Amino acid sequence: MQYKRILLKLSGESLQGKQGFGIDTNCLREYTDQIKAIAQQGVQVAIVIGGGNIFRGMTGAQHGYDRVKGDQMGMLATVINALALKTAFDAIDQPSRVLTSIRMQPIGEYYSHDKAIRLLEEGTVVILAGGTGSPYFTTDTGSSLRALEIKADIMLKGTRVDGIYTADPEKDPTATKFDEITYDEVIRRGLKVMDLTATVMCKENKMPIYVFNMDKVGNLQKVLAGEKIGTLVTP
Ligand code: UDP
Repeated sequence: MQYKRILLKLSGESLQGKQGFGIDTNCLREYTDQIKAIAQQGVQVAIVIGGGNIFRGMTGAQHGYDRVKGDQMGMLATVINALALKTAFDAIDQPSRVLTSIRMQPIGEYYSHDKAIRLLEEGTVVILAGGTGSPYFTTDTGSSLRALEIKADIMLKGTRVDGIYTADPEKDPTATKFDEITYDEVIRRGLKVMDLTATVMCKENKMPIYVFNMDKVGNLQKVLAGEKIGTLVTP
């Protein structure tokens, strides 16, 4: 396997599957099966889960919510998704643990990077909920922060498209895919692969990012095996 320890970012939206809202149990099962397969091969997996399928602070603010309260609602949404993931791992006998960036025992244990690393080393999949724990951030930034803290070899961003394109391939049929791209190019072109804060954080700390389509069963395994199916973001 190419990487020993990965940080996998899954968006909340990716959990909603075709139903367009909430949590699709088939989708959960597909993800957890794929993750279990690589965990069994010795890859240490930490997951940062988003909450956009339930609530986003920015959208709330457009409808008159206080931004901080809205972001707190968004962070709680990520905890709901984390518990759903944990339940799905339990169902397939894959050891996993939910760590939260905000104290909320017994729903999840309070995150510390030492605890996360200890769990990863013993083969437990670590589900990181609550993003950074602070408003005005996103789970993309939560992912870059945690990837650095736990010394992940790479941050994998599982999406529903095959990588980074010159434009949104769901809107522009002429868009072409990059196999590799630099952080500066992502920023210069204003590509919406990750939010800017997260991209800059990865750039400054030389954390490689790999963007790939997690909705195709088997793709996670392929990425770990070194197959070039997505886009690698490098210095
Ligand atoms: N959020 C936050 N701080 C964080 C992470 C998330 O305030 O560190 C809030 C923010 O409102 C965000 C929501 O939680 O919109 C859900 O996270 P995100 O939008 O990143 O989820 P995704 O798009 O990955 O589903």
